[in-house]
Amino acid sequence: MPKKLIIAIDGPAGSGKSTTAKLVAKRLNYLYIDTGAMYRAITLLALRNELMGKTAEIIELAKSLKIVLSFIDGETNITVNGEDVSKEIRSFEVNGNVSEISAIEGVRKILVKKQQEMGKDGGVVMEGRDITTVVYPNADVKIYLTAGIDERAVRRAKEFSEKGTDVPIEKVKENLKNRDFIDSNREASPLTKSPDAIEVDTSNTTIEEQVELIIKEFKIVSEK
Ligand code: C5P
Repeated sequence: MPKKLIIAIDGPAGSGKSTTAKLVAKRLNYLYIDTGAMYRAITLLALRNELMGKTAEIIELAKSLKIVLSFIDGETNITVNGEDVSKEIRSFEVNGNVSEISAIEGVRKILVKKQQEMGKDGGVVMEGRDITTVVYPNADVKIYLTAGIDERAVRRAKEFSEKGTDVPIEKVKENLKNRDFIDSNREASPLTKSPDAIEVDTSNTTIEEQVELIIKEFKIVSEK
């Protein structure tokens, strides 16, 4: 039986993490874990309960929630206390508030523990902002994806449009810049490239090339 590895992918929003990670997981028959969905789920519930700005209450809320992440028909499925919130967590409102929630150290502690538990047996492709630095600093394959802001904004606007919401490109860009800033400058596990992660700028590479690069790295590590 080959050893089941941990593939960790970090990078800013729109860098191609989810698409690439999903395809790598499919190729290897590994589990795909979208950690951003977990931060989004807590944000959605904080918004519904009108808790934005109330750190202590948000941490209590996060502790009380039963979040179950799975992957069904090629898509992330997430339930909170049994309710399917997979679509709602992608709203523009959640996008605008998620970085504030994910900057709370108490929230991160709860989710990081859960993510470490989910990947403990290996055989996972996990993506987020702190997977290569905090959740799995010893992951077998560590990747950092980037892309220019304009390219990332175009990709995100297209995603919104495909889901039936047309958001002006300038608004998408503003949201991405805001999230980049908060995610990279927060005190608790900021988004940063781990020195030993392989950096891939996806502005001019195809998805297939990105997938191949990770699979190649996976093979090198597997054969060691
Ligand atoms: O990946 P996605 O864009 O869905 O992530 C949403 C937000 O969740 C990010 O902007 C970031 O604030 C937060 N996040 C995080 N750590 C992770 C994954 C996501 O802080 N591991």
